[in-house]
Amino acid sequence: MLVPDWPLARLRIYEMARTNPIKTFLLWELLGGMWVTLKALFRPKITVNYPEEKAPQSVRFRGLHALRRYPNGEERCIACKLCEAVCPALAITIESTVAPDGTRRTSRYDIDLFKCIYCGFCEEACPVDAIVETRIHEYHMEHRGENIMTKDKLLAVGERYDATITADKTADAPYR
Ligand code: SF4
Ligand code: SF4
Repeated sequence: MLVPDWPLARLRIYEMARTNPIKTFLLWELLGGMWVTLKALFRPKITVNYPEEKAPQSVRFRGLHALRRYPNGEERCIACKLCEAVCPALAITIESTVAPDGTRRTSRYDIDLFKCIYCGFCEEACPVDAIVETRIHEYHMEHRGENIMTKDKLLAVGERYDATITADKTADAPYR
């Protein structure tokens, strides 16, 4: 790291004042600094006025989780627990049961958002594209326990953002 040598800088100013008193009188260094500021004023801005303006997002953005359904309304998840096994943060808890139609389904599917590191492994491991990470990143919790995304909450997110999730999956499909 470049550490400014203040005693040396002061010596240089004294030296300049001694050798060029006019420049010192005109505050030459100050004018030089203001010139740099003036030039920066007319350069293209690279800042984004969040939240009015948003930065572009990838179709692979890893935000809030969602559980998806098939177009006929059937749950995609088959309770194989691969996502639970692969999760490095142990954020997923699944309990399974046999549904009346004989299929295996989850009776409990919780994701602890405080533990989750948004790595996307659960999404990668899922054989039926049931658990996904959406583009949603603007969310907060106000009460204890709201960090647990239950199965109902995950399914609700999936239903609400199904069009976006499907579009993102379709756009990303050629690269997988
Ligand atoms: S994104 Fe990663 S850490 Fe979060 S639930 Fe999925 S596998 Fe676990
Ligand atoms: S979300 Fe996918 S990986 Fe996880 S239990 Fe359901 S089917 Fe298996």
